[in-house]
Amino acid sequence: MAGYAAASAKTEQDWEGKFRALPDPANLRIYMQRLSARPHHVGSAYDKDNAEWILAKLKEWGLDAKIETYDVLFPTPKERALELTAPTRFTAKLEEPTVANDPTSSQHNEQLPTYNAYSIDGDVTAPLVYVNFGVPDDYEMLDRLGVSVKGAIVIARYGGSWRGIKPKVAAEHGALGCLIYSDPHEDGYFQGEVFPAGPFRPKDGVQRGSVMDMPVYPGDPLTPGVGATKDARRLPLNQAETLTKIPVLPISYADAQPLLAALAGRVAPEAWRGSLPITYRVGPGPARVHLKASFNWDTKPLYNVIARIPGSTAPDEWVIRGNHHDAWVNGAQDPVSGAVALLEEARGLAALTSQGWKPKRTIVICFWDGEEEGLLGSTEWAEDHARELQQKAAVYINSDGNDRGYLSVAGSHTLEKFINSVARDVDDPEAKLSVWKRLQFRRIADPPANPADRQEPRSRPDLRIGALGSGSDYSAFIDHLGVASLNVGFAGESNGGIYHSIYDDFAWYSKFGDPDFLYGRALAQVAGSAVMRLADAELLPYDFGDFTDTIRRYVNEVEKLAQDSREQIVERNRRIDEGLFTAIDNPSEKLLPPPKEQAPPFLNFAPLENGFAALQRAAEQYSQAAARAAAGGGAGLANASLRDANAKLIAVERALTLKDGLPGRPWYQHQIYAPGFYTGYGVKTLPAVRESIEQKQWKLAEEQIGRVGKVLENAGEAIQGAAAELGRVAQ
Ligand SMILES: [Zn+2]
Repeated sequence: MAGYAAASAKTEQDWEGKFRALPDPANLRIYMQRLSARPHHVGSAYDKDNAEWILAKLKEWGLDAKIETYDVLFPTPKERALELTAPTRFTAKLEEPTVANDPTSSQHNEQLPTYNAYSIDGDVTAPLVYVNFGVPDDYEMLDRLGVSVKGAIVIARYGGSWRGIKPKVAAEHGALGCLIYSDPHEDGYFQGEVFPAGPFRPKDGVQRGSVMDMPVYPGDPLTPGVGATKDARRLPLNQAETLTKIPVLPISYADAQPLLAALAGRVAPEAWRGSLPITYRVGPGPARVHLKASFNWDTKPLYNVIARIPGSTAPDEWVIRGNHHDAWVNGAQDPVSGAVALLEEARGLAALTSQGWKPKRTIVICFWDGEEEGLLGSTEWAEDHARELQQKAAVYINSDGNDRGYLSVAGSHTLEKFINSVARDVDDPEAKLSVWKRLQFRRIADPPANPADRQEPRSRPDLRIGALGSGSDYSAFIDHLGVASLNVGFAGESNGGIYHSIYDDFAWYSKFGDPDFLYGRALAQVAGSAVMRLADAELLPYDFGDFTDTIRRYVNEVEKLAQDSREQIVERNRRIDEGLFTAIDNPSEKLLPPPKEQAPPFLNFAPLENGFAALQRAAEQYSQAAARAAAGGGAGLANASLRDANAKLIAVERALTLKDGLPGRPWYQHQIYAPGFYTGYGVKTLPAVRESIEQKQWKLAEEQIGRVGKVLENAGEAIQGAAAELGRVAQ
């Protein structure tokens, strides 16, 4: 067990074994019934009620807990209207009906209407254009089709990017309004039987969601970078950078079909066609649409519930664990399925402390509010406590909605080896194997796309974890503060289509989600064991071998990206010069040739390679120092004061950040991981370098290669410092 001397590893295993026996699926079911009984979005009566109920539970179990409140901008709909005004008339319903055998679907008085939060107010009438997913590539195709969205209202389907990207890119191209609908191809009957007969999205189901420009900064739009306390300095509403530029409304496929059917113009490219029984066309028009959306721009209180188990010997090193408790509506899957696992985990940890377990480090357990609108609760808390967190936070572990299936982990690769070790010790509820072994079989059955990696699931000691983009409450911790973070959950076997709708409720989850709550228990076991193992370790179990291996891949990727991008542009220019596009054009489906672009310069990646080499040397030194400390039963670990070594280890992830952040978005300080500016939730690794290449900003790319190379060097120095300290004390 990395970071433990032999004797203490034995004690730890005993305590963890006791812990893993505690979470009870029957409790998870009871908690879920309570927390999802009524709609509980931020600012609602039941949201506050839930926070107080969670607080009371934590206190009942003997934990020191309190509610921390922030005041955040939270718009709710005042008026919503959508009609087709030509060539025929149709008025969209914009409502999700009650369905049979689903009692909470009838709670219309308390349900938030279907809308996208942080859309601006607007009242526009314009021709309609279908833009597929509405990502930048789709607009390149529209150019070739000779279709402009200037002065139009666009209709995009969900998928292909995070939703907030769609209005952002539409506005960049001159659109006046944006509709986002759930196509049954991705989210409806094409996937399977729809609710209530099956788990998939019914025709009137709507995906609510935030369209805040989170890739710029998440959290309260009026208080970027600082906690939204009562007396915080607030931006005037018209200076909030993260509101959309055009009005946006999400709609169901029942409401979308008449609009799409009324489009004429070019037949949509094959890849753009969904599963509605119509011929998909691009427009513009003759469909004309009137879109109206206005909002109450209120400030609402949010309620984070925070509990602490004080550390016995290293109280100033914190292991933080969180899941949000607010939902769009009833939210049984998102987030209650994760929140109840965290509650059961908290009950288990509290029970152990009354049996005499004393974690070395402080454990902070957080139930966040306002996640759905833009990670409000976690971001404001992290910004408010930034100074203390920068000094003390060792690791943040997040979860959100939980399903049946395989363990899914993404996060800091300095924790890859660690979380692999935890996953080997937790049993899968279905297969009589560890959750690690079952995931390994899944990866062997479904190997990596790259032929060079095919054997990896069998041969590499650790299963790879993903990188974190955005989409849940880890963002402020990893991206803004540089706290090593993990997001954990189970997924892959209980798919459905109730995300952010009124049908995400107990009736759905207890039938189609995780009906026996066995994977809820497994989540509590994985995350709780991880928290304990981090809180009790003599030496924090970061590892820089897997980390370096991952960084090598990222460096290779950006080098290849630059090369491919260059070759592509050169080849395309050649084709344009040859007249190829005109020569092969089908006269009945004409495509305009793409525009010629200047061939990019060759980029000098030497600074990134040098930074990597320094990192690699340091990682080797550290692994030697750690191996010496662990030798002979880990006597070096048991006897030494590892306070300084641990402090230096905590500082390594901070060394991966830069105070002035990413180009154009200073809030995002981490230089290895960030949500993509044009993907939203989707991660961009080495983001400053990768995105400047993708956006063909060659001069910026060259600058960022130097800057990120220096960050890798800094990280190498930080790791070397930890190795030296460990070598000095753990002889
Ligand atoms: Zn969630």
